[in-house]
Amino acid sequence: MVRKTFDIVSFRQQDIPDWNCPTCILGLLISNKIVKQECKESKAGKLLDIYDGFSQYGYFFMHLECNNPSCNENVFCLGFYYNDLCPTVNGEITETVYIPKYFYPNLRILNISNKCPQDIRNLIDISFSLYYSDSSSCANKIRVVLEHIMNNLRIKKETINSKGRIVKIKLHDRILQMKNNKRYGKISDYILAIKWIGNDGSHDDTIVQNDILDAYEILERVIEEIYEKKTETLEKKVKKINTKRKPLSKI
Ligand SMILES: [Zn+2]
Repeated sequence: MVRKTFDIVSFRQQDIPDWNCPTCILGLLISNKIVKQECKESKAGKLLDIYDGFSQYGYFFMHLECNNPSCNENVFCLGFYYNDLCPTVNGEITETVYIPKYFYPNLRILNISNKCPQDIRNLIDISFSLYYSDSSSCANKIRVVLEHIMNNLRIKKETINSKGRIVKIKLHDRILQMKNNKRYGKISDYILAIKWIGNDGSHDDTIVQNDILDAYEILERVIEEIYEKKTETLEKKVKKINTKRKPLSKI
C-alpha cells in the first residue's frame, strides 16, 4: 500500500496525488480536465465554515486518464472545492483546493491478490469506494470483510445457547476462537486490531482516514498471510538455506 498517496485528503491542481490506475494498477492517473461549478450557497455569499472570511466554493468533476499506453483507462472524480488565498513574495494569489469525495471506477488502496476469494475482494473494493466520502461506513465495511474471512477459514459462526436455540457467535469471540487455530492463530491479533478500528467506525462519526489506512495496512498483511503465504515461503527458504549452508541453486 502506498500510504502517502491516500494520506492526502485535499490537493491543488499542481500537486494531484500519484493515484494508480484501478484497472491495470501499473499506470498513473493523469488529470485531463477539471470542471468547477460554484454552488448556490457560495453565490449567496454564505461563509464557508472551514475558511476565515469569504471564499468561493462549490463542486468539481475531474477526468483522469491512465498513462499506461496499453490501458488508457478513464476515471472520473467528483468532489468539493474552495478558493484559498496563498501568500507569495509578490503578494497573495488565489489557489483552488480540491477535496475528492467519489471516484468511478473506485481507486484501489491495496492491491489484493487474486488468490483471495472473490466475495472478500468485492467487499474490500466497496470499502475503497467509501474511503473519501464516508470514513465510518468504510470502517464498517472493513469489519464485514473480517466476518467473511472468518467464514472462509471456517471459524465457527453459530452455537447453541442455554435455551437450545441456535445463535450467532460475535465477531470478537470468533477472533478469540481463531487464536487457538494452529495455522491462523498468529494473525488473530492483527484481525482483532482491525476489528477495534471497524467498531469505532460503527459507533463514532469522527473516525479519521489515517485510522482507516492503519486498518488497510494490517488487512494487507492478513491477506498475505492467509492467501499468499509469502512469509511462510520466505521462512522456509531461509531455513533451507541455513540448514544446507548454501544458496538454493546449489542445493
Ligand atoms: Zn491503467
